[in-house]
Amino acid sequence: MVIVLNEQATDADIQFIVEKLHSVGAEAHVSRGEFKTVIGVIGDREKVMELHFEAYPGVEKVVPIMKPYKLVSREFHQDLSTIRVGDVQIGPGTFTVIAGPCSVESEDQILNAARAVKSSGAKLFRGGAYKPRTSPYSFQGLGEEGLTLLKKAKDETGLPVISEVLDARDIETVAEYVDVLQVGTRNMQNFMLMKELGKIDKPVLLKRGMSSTIEEWLMAAEYIAKEGNSQIILCERGIRTFENATRNTLDLSAIPLVHSLSHLPVVVDPSHATGRRDLVGPLCRGAMAVGADGVMVEVHPNPSQALCDGPQSLTLDEFEEVMQGLKALAGSFDRILQ
Ligand code: PEP
Ligand code: MN
Repeated sequence: MVIVLNEQATDADIQFIVEKLHSVGAEAHVSRGEFKTVIGVIGDREKVMELHFEAYPGVEKVVPIMKPYKLVSREFHQDLSTIRVGDVQIGPGTFTVIAGPCSVESEDQILNAARAVKSSGAKLFRGGAYKPRTSPYSFQGLGEEGLTLLKKAKDETGLPVISEVLDARDIETVAEYVDVLQVGTRNMQNFMLMKELGKIDKPVLLKRGMSSTIEEWLMAAEYIAKEGNSQIILCERGIRTFENATRNTLDLSAIPLVHSLSHLPVVVDPSHATGRRDLVGPLCRGAMAVGADGVMVEVHPNPSQALCDGPQSLTLDEFEEVMQGLKALAGSFDRILQ
């Protein structure tokens, strides 16, 4: 349930309520909005109801949350959230472009890609150092060496970087080098990983599991939020359907739907959704039109030589063209392209 406070509520009133909640073993998540403070309560419903918070000073009302996810729901936090990564704000009113190669392959490759996507207007740089490959014989990524190259790209260009963490044991290392930790589609329901990511103080980009419902996706986000980290960016990257003309099927309906259910920002990854570079531009524009908070796009200086996901990677020139298209559209959709 959510305890909604009135405008007169003081810090002491909030403290008193939080202590009462703790006394019955419930968790209290205080969220201070521009006008109102709400306290999200997680715990034994009966015990909490017996405390009759409606009668406490500073309380406007007590509202049950009907959804199975609580902290990430709009019932808990009505305003859409903005997640900050350095100077970049991902949330309402903006459209953030994250770009870079599928994997970090070499210093030349990563620096060329970072310089080019920056000059075309991307605001975050991506690159995988730990790669979740279907085959154990495929390139698995450069590991920590890849992270040092990403950091080098960041130091040179100033672009914050995002990279995938595959295993809870690597969180500390990955977090040392990157600004946003990515959870891939294959790990969305690795709940031990989610719990550990909930304990860090860095944004997490949570990809939708390729066979997951929207509710399962939001429940995975709830695992992270429950441990205290609410800096979560959702990423729709396509789901498995019977259609095999594309690598996955991009569920564009998920974007406005998730926005109605959750306050978390949602970005779209048209590269993994389609597996085809010719579809990336149109779906970036579609993502903007349905209200996504941004896109994450694979870009490679030489896609035919890429060690991973070449067919879906844009060349540097193609990326520039996609950015021009988005710039032309941003005004019509009241978004600041960044
Ligand atoms: C990726 O972003 O490179 C990746 C592996 O994505 P996904 O988890 O969506 O397949
Ligand atoms: Mn990839």
